[in-house]
Amino acid sequence: MINFTLSKAQTEFRDYAHQVAVEEMRPISLECERTEQIPESFFWNMQKRFWAGSAGQARAQAREGEENQSNMLSMLSQEEMAWGDAALSTAIPGPGLAAPPILSNGTPEQQMRFLGPFMDGQLHWGALALTEPGIGSDVAGMSTTATLDGDEWVLNGHKHYITNGARADLVITFATVDKRKGREGIRPFVVPKGTPGLIVGRIEEKMGLRASQTAELIYENCRIPKDHLLAGRQKDTRAGGFKAAMGTLDATRPMVGALAVGIARAAYEAACQWVKEELPRGYPAHKRHDIEQELEELRQELQMSRYLVWRAAWMADQRIPNSREASMCKAYAGNLVMKVTAAAVRITAPGEDSELKQFIHKWFRDAKVFDIFEGTAQIQRLVIARRMFPKVNIP
Ligand SMILES: Cc1cc2nc3c(=O)[nH]c(=O)nc-3n(C[C@H](O)[C@H](O)[C@H](O)COP(=O)(O)OP(=O)(O)OC[C@H]3O[C@@H](n4cnc5c(N)ncnc54)[C@H](O)[C@@H]3O)c2cc1C
Repeated sequence: MINFTLSKAQTEFRDYAHQVAVEEMRPISLECERTEQIPESFFWNMQKRFWAGSAGQARAQAREGEENQSNMLSMLSQEEMAWGDAALSTAIPGPGLAAPPILSNGTPEQQMRFLGPFMDGQLHWGALALTEPGIGSDVAGMSTTATLDGDEWVLNGHKHYITNGARADLVITFATVDKRKGREGIRPFVVPKGTPGLIVGRIEEKMGLRASQTAELIYENCRIPKDHLLAGRQKDTRAGGFKAAMGTLDATRPMVGALAVGIARAAYEAACQWVKEELPRGYPAHKRHDIEQELEELRQELQMSRYLVWRAAWMADQRIPNSREASMCKAYAGNLVMKVTAAAVRITAPGEDSELKQFIHKWFRDAKVFDIFEGTAQIQRLVIARRMFPKVNIP
């Protein structure tokens, strides 16, 4: 049976996340964007709200006696958080993108060792470092190396655009153990903050998501213990590490899709509010009609986008392979958020500057990156095409 209704616990969790967005994010959103700084109090508030507070209870309640819903719950909260402020949502303390590779590739002991400290009530962040200058989509050409020297791995290389890279307590770092093997040679390693040889470089100044920290990381003879390799739990570790870790994108792409839906919804709602409350007097009736029609069409696309995201997240919870659906929702939502925010900027152009317009302009700037990170739109199309036509060799 097809059911598009959220359960009571899911609805409560989503509403709780919305309340957090209203109370903690919107009030500081524009200032954080302007200064590219986030007050420490925000981190503590979010830490309390999401780890110790009623969100934790809601999660537990939602799980009680029910099937796995972790992806659905994260996805619901991501949409609300991005409605509040997508940049702030990337900075909420927690393992973030570091968690999926540890969960999919780590032994139970490694999971406890690396994720356990995130539960101690203090502020901790995780990061994932894959991208290098010149190596983003095509990771086979990765140049960061890992060489085994006795009981230690020695990492050398250069990563950039790493979200939370400078504040992360641990960075899942992808490096090649054998360049000749291309993708097969790539493995994920856990590099703790403060490891000698791990150097934080430039913090990017960006057009959008300005309050989100995007850092350069340099590895210079960076030595980590041998057991910091996340080797994969399969017996055959030849492709271990890499394939499984890349598979985590199937879980994270719906989350990114949900963030895009959240921003698009914020811009859509703001444009509707502006039309209702601030449309200049004497605005031609036929033009108002055109705008209303456009907004109605965008509403339909927003709903379509949300359902694509829900489906991909639901499949992840059911452990149904969802690579195609994850890429579909990411590609669709990444495109839609640019379309909706651009329309909101255009529709609300007449008249005086206002705070509402400042928000809309911010969301327009924030939207672009959803076409880029976690795989660009072109890469999503390749993934979808490969799943549709597995025997066709697409370059
Ligand atoms: C704000 C922000 C945060 C980020 N956070 C992280 C992070 O936490 N960790 C991390 O590792 N990375 C992160 N990234 C990096 C991001 O994932 C990459 O920028 C992205 O994967 C694209 O890689 P690239 O920039 O090297 O572009 P390239 O891969 O060089 O692509 C350039 C262009 O070529 C196109 N292209 C490439 N290959 C093909 C192909 N085969 N077919 C058709 N078109 C193709 C792309 O679609 C794109 O349009 C972040 C980036 C940003 C902007």
